[in-house]
Amino acid sequence: MIVAQDLGALRAAIASRPGAWALVPTMGALHAGHMALVTEAHRRAPNVVASIFVNPTQFAANEDLARYPRDEAGDLAKLEAAGCDLVWLPSVAAMYPPGDRTFIDVSGPSAGYEGAMRPGHFRGMATVVGKLMLQVGPSFAMFGEKDWQQLQVVRRMVADLHFPLEVVGVPTVREPDGLAMSSRNRFLSPAERAQAPYLAETLWRTAVALAGGRMEALAEGQAALQDGGFGVDYFALVDSTSLGVPGDRPTRLLAAARLGSVRLLDNVPVE
Ligand code: AMP
Repeated sequence: MIVAQDLGALRAAIASRPGAWALVPTMGALHAGHMALVTEAHRRAPNVVASIFVNPTQFAANEDLARYPRDEAGDLAKLEAAGCDLVWLPSVAAMYPPGDRTFIDVSGPSAGYEGAMRPGHFRGMATVVGKLMLQVGPSFAMFGEKDWQQLQVVRRMVADLHFPLEVVGVPTVREPDGLAMSSRNRFLSPAERAQAPYLAETLWRTAVALAGGRMEALAEGQAALQDGGFGVDYFALVDSTSLGVPGDRPTRLLAAARLGSVRLLDNVPVE
């Protein structure tokens, strides 16, 4: 496995191998959810590159970038074991040249939900994902359904800017009790960790009721989470692609809920 720390090394490593590349963008602190993206990447392309970059521009002003978990040695060991071919570890200066003035602003699916809760988040995310795609030139880019809104923002950007690649969404990997895996789960206290699976449970229960036409289940689900000790940022049924008002097309139930200082994101399809 090659580890590239500057753009020259990255380009040399990409050029050294024939065949297509699949890109797995991450912010590190890797868990089985990230590794599912690497596994899916291997199915799509002979060469797999994972990037690890804790992107400062996608943290909103009130969020603590310094608290974001980092485990470079552990991450490299996991990627090596998973047969990853190349790891791209750019510095902040390599990503954002001094004096930079260019950002990617996707409207539409980035409005509302995480976009409203975290001002500037999707602008920072889209900018860095666009840069990663231009740096690597992959044929495939892998994203988790866990961050459903992010996946739709990336799909919109790739379509609008004609990035010559396929965006692949990978189903959410969960703990045995249903909690969606996340780098932030490690900050849950034992009591919060015991409560946390109630979020996924409530999403599934609500999705079944909504699919059966019981629209009041949405308010009931939100109330159940609040009664269960969650601070609910949103619990909403949306159009799966546009994130707009649900209509005839497939819909998705999205939730963001807080336990103590930890924000949990999860979503399920409503069929
Ligand atoms: P992050 O490092 O949290 O920015 O996540 C990097 C990628 O991994 C994103 O595409 C996430 O959606 C994806 N991801 C994170 N957690 C999971 C999970 N539990 N299951 C599937 N994909 C995930």
